Amino acid sequence: MFKPTLPYIIAGPCAAESEEQVLATAQGIAQCQAHYPNYTYIYRAGIWKPRSSPNTFQGIGAEGLTWLQQVQQTYHLPVATEVATPEQVKQATEAGIDYLWIGARTSANPIAVQAIADAVDGTKIKGVMVKNPVNEDAALWLGNIARLEQAGVAVMAIHRGCNHRPCWAMAYQLLQARPDIPILIDPSHLSGKASAIAQLCTQANRLGYSGWMVETHIAPQEALSDAQQQITPEELEGLVNRGVGESVNRGSEELDWQRAMIDEVDDDLWQHLAKRMEISKRIGAWKKERQIPALQPFRYQEILEKRIAWGSEHGLDKETVEQIMEAIHKQSVRIQS
Ligand code: PEP
Ligand code: MN
Repeated sequence: MFKPTLPYIIAGPCAAESEEQVLATAQGIAQCQAHYPNYTYIYRAGIWKPRSSPNTFQGIGAEGLTWLQQVQQTYHLPVATEVATPEQVKQATEAGIDYLWIGARTSANPIAVQAIADAVDGTKIKGVMVKNPVNEDAALWLGNIARLEQAGVAVMAIHRGCNHRPCWAMAYQLLQARPDIPILIDPSHLSGKASAIAQLCTQANRLGYSGWMVETHIAPQEALSDAQQQITPEELEGLVNRGVGESVNRGSEELDWQRAMIDEVDDDLWQHLAKRMEISKRIGAWKKERQIPALQPFRYQEILEKRIAWGSEHGLDKETVEQIMEAIHKQSVRIQS
């Protein structure tokens, strides 16, 4: 069973690329474990990679299983790999892989998840990590977890966001519904940027997460997949050194959660504002070509009235809506003039 109060560190490359790369990365992680033993370490490496394009590295395939066995034998680290089909479950379990994870793309498809659950049923697998689906859908994520549990396996949740948006509200829902299972952050896939990993790990600690799944590669710049979002084992050790609490702190993080959600809404708001101004710029150019004035009062009146009506349905008073619309419109006219 996975314990939500234990801090977990799941680390290893996005993909197993060669025997040397797998073992050298494992050596670095084993060293981190030797220096900071109070965590539960699991070595991760994808061997069947669900890539967007068929013209990129698709993973080394079953050959990588033997490299993971060497990690078990040489460094005594339990190992995990991603599975997307019952056939992959069969190969991985027959090779003695300790843990499996279900990736975000597979997690979006409950039929695929059920097939995996049926395939792990009755095997010796120690647990399955379930990533959130690529779409923001807490109910589907929870449903996937239930499918695996009904197959009798231990489950933990991995929060990896959607399209490089954290979707904190989805993770919050998961945590509220399932405080009994660990939820880990995957800052690599969540942000897509190695530079964002440290801050996200710190934030996850404050939010009561049970640890991290961090893509760790001996030479991140040379990685065949996800090169931008991996860190070295030494960098991982640096994070462990100043980051993870040795026990998971749950129960006092409500304000931090609400703030994480509000910051995300603000990010969305500002991004939408910038997008709106881009469109406005194009409209400005169109009007200029036709010598139409930037300001057209009837159009402004129309959108203002629409928003005032919307605001009254959503608890925003008329004055607030007018002030916000006026500020946006002013900037828009300035861009067009
Ligand atoms: C991975 O962990 O390598 C992976 C493919 O992740 P995700 O499913 O979150 O994209
Ligand atoms: Mn990856």
